[in-house]
Amino acid sequence: MWHDLRERLLRPLVRGPVTARHPAVAPVLPPAARGLPVVDPARCDATGACVVACPTGAIALDGGTWRLDLGRCVFCAACADACPRQAIALTGRVELAAGERTAVVTTTAVGTRS
Ligand code: SF4
Repeated sequence: MWHDLRERLLRPLVRGPVTARHPAVAPVLPPAARGLPVVDPARCDATGACVVACPTGAIALDGGTWRLDLGRCVFCAACADACPRQAIALTGRVELAAGERTAVVTTTAVGTRS
């Protein structure tokens, strides 16, 4: 028992920390990691396929404005998969904390081609 206890206490000193020094050091994410969804206004034709596909209601289209509520987004990529023009991509940006609820709602002016 004492040997096990000593091993457990000394292990962090010998091996060093196993946690990252975030935010001083940016996290290294796996290639498949999903972060902030963004829309390319030059590609978007505002047909609303992303709105229909989003399982959480995080996306809204109001005329020529694409609105994303990150407080609802679960980073599933259904919006990107549904877009017929590949206008939405999930980025690697995962540091999305905000101090106010309104700060996690983003808007982007998009095209209204017909
Ligand atoms: S990633 Fe998923 S939850 Fe987030 S906006 Fe797209 S469809 Fe909605």
